[in-house]
Amino acid sequence: MNQRRTLLSLSILLLACGALLIATVSSQNSNPASEHRGPSWRSPVASTQSFHIAGSVVQVDFAPGALDLPTPQIMQWVENAASSVATYYGRFPVPRDRVLIMPTEDRRGVMQGTSWGDVGGSPAFTRIRLGQHTTADALTDDWMMTHELVHGAFPSQEDEHHWIEEGIAVYVEPVARVQTGFLQSEKIWSDMVRDMPKGDPQPGDQGLDQTHTWGRTYWGGAQFCLLADVTIREQTHNKKGLQDALRAIVAAGGTIDQEWPIRKALLAGDAGTGTHILEQQYDHMASAPVTVDLDGLWKKLGIVRTETGVRFDDTAPDAAIRAAITATPSTGRIASSP
Ligand SMILES: [Zn+2]
Repeated sequence: MNQRRTLLSLSILLLACGALLIATVSSQNSNPASEHRGPSWRSPVASTQSFHIAGSVVQVDFAPGALDLPTPQIMQWVENAASSVATYYGRFPVPRDRVLIMPTEDRRGVMQGTSWGDVGGSPAFTRIRLGQHTTADALTDDWMMTHELVHGAFPSQEDEHHWIEEGIAVYVEPVARVQTGFLQSEKIWSDMVRDMPKGDPQPGDQGLDQTHTWGRTYWGGAQFCLLADVTIREQTHNKKGLQDALRAIVAAGGTIDQEWPIRKALLAGDAGTGTHILEQQYDHMASAPVTVDLDGLWKKLGIVRTETGVRFDDTAPDAAIRAAITATPSTGRIASSP
């Protein structure tokens, strides 16, 4: 999740009308799971740790509350997620990031994550609710921390373009984790074959900018990214991919603390691949329902369904593209340091 826009509107309201802002904020935060009333980035902090990653600093704050797992294990989970993001982007997207872990009593698992840009003095801020009885295995399997940190790597969008923020996070998270060595590529392609159809337009759909269902926002956005990745690689003889486009957006300053029109971001991305694919695809898919030929894509990429998942067909025309998508980038695996 990414709530930059909501918060930005609220800050504007603060300037215009403090009383209205306070009323809105307190009703937003009346979640019974949180005793603190007020913006999450001002929630009480019981302890703080931090680590470095590619020249950036990630501060990890722990809200009061018990967790079964020792702190170093939780830190390792955040560091692995940051490592995946830095490996994918060739750098950590923002110079300073803050993660607030909120222990949730009597629950287990990584429960919910939300990210904001430019709040409380931090370019990026992520709040994660973590169940008290979460196991080490649950952290190893978790995707949410990586998803949230990916949000730092794209400029904040108006509500109608929320799908691109979520689509990038949904698509990049598993790819980044394979590139960094935390997942097997068979696993993520198998998951994509299963989950990508959730993004198909339903009857009455009016395009990604107009139809804001869960499926279209998360998986419709992910389809946009997958299609862009394959098309960029086809047009550039597999020399460039969506990764180069997304890196170029970050290099141009397009991070979560910035508010950019979507076309500015797509232009910066296309400049990074020497194509016009992001802009063209946006023109095609923003205001009209477009069904992506997923079965055709799997076939070209050499992804064959089996009873237990998928197997790869290396004789398929785009088999090299499939391999390039998940290969560790030439910039290498980027690890955290104390
Ligand atoms: Zn998200």
